Amino acid sequence: MRLLRLPSGREIPVLGQGTWRMGEERTQRPAEIAALRLGLDLGMTLIDTAEMYGEGGAEEVVGEAIAGRRDEVFLVSKVYPHNATRRGTVEACKRSLKRLKTDYLDLYLLHWRGSVPLAETLEAFQLLKKAGDIRDYGVSNFDLDDMENAIALRGGDEIVTNQVLYNLMQRGIEWDLLPWCRDRSIPIMAYSPIEQAPREPGGMLQNPHLKAIAARHNATPTQVALAWLLHQKDIIAIPKASNPAHLRENRAALELTLTNEDLAELDLAFPPPHKKTTLAMR
Ligand code: NAP
Repeated sequence: MRLLRLPSGREIPVLGQGTWRMGEERTQRPAEIAALRLGLDLGMTLIDTAEMYGEGGAEEVVGEAIAGRRDEVFLVSKVYPHNATRRGTVEACKRSLKRLKTDYLDLYLLHWRGSVPLAETLEAFQLLKKAGDIRDYGVSNFDLDDMENAIALRGGDEIVTNQVLYNLMQRGIEWDLLPWCRDRSIPIMAYSPIEQAPREPGGMLQNPHLKAIAARHNATPTQVALAWLLHQKDIIAIPKASNPAHLRENRAALELTLTNEDLAELDLAFPPPHKKTTLAMR
């Protein structure tokens, strides 16, 4: 697995596994645990979860999936904005660690910006880091102005990533947020990297250009969409897949190298932004 260096110096796999919608139904849990374990076997050892997903259910699923394999895993979780006070963040983290059956997170993120002052959340993140409960911290769904506010605060200079919606259909961050992060060597974690696999006509994976490029490489449109993100050296992609065939397909996207001609065709089919847009969120 290709690794990328975070501003803290620690390394993170560039392709991981999402867990949104996991842990919601008890009957699905064995299949979800098996999927996450297969993902680990395939080298997708970055697992992204959050206290929000299944209201703790996804973290429990992850906890079972990584039992006995914690050392292999780069584990990411997120705190709800309404819990993100100085004390609330620390308590939420402890609850997450318990559900995940581990004693540290590799990365802890503020899920999105809420009404709690950022300074409080950053202070809590620093306390958690000093205590060894988390190795690194970052943010999610932060637009450029949020990032500017955050790095000006104490502890803001230790933010190692911003996890945002980024895929071929959602390229708004290329206007300002992505270059800003690039200038500061802060990698972006791209969520919903395959736009949640829309099946309806007009959906991303139905795009004729995407299909044609995939056909040229004997690959699938999903793989091209992931390869497009991953050809950018500072992007981390976290597709969610419960289906074993999807996991294998996603992992193989790392071996797909797009040509300059492919990239130009993708720019025509999915044009980059020509003005500032508000950060899109799911
Ligand atoms: P996604 O990864 O773009 O799409 C997931 C959907 O795609 C699932 O229905 C999955 O089906 C399907 N899929 C996966 N691989 C496929 C393949 N090779 N071919 C066809 N379909 C495939 O969307 P997402 O779950 O929204 O985003 C990924 C992760 O990012 C989340 O799980 C979560 O961890 C994180 N996220 C974070 C935020 C945030 O606010 N920070 C927001 C959204 C998501 P199966 O499950 O049936 O395989």
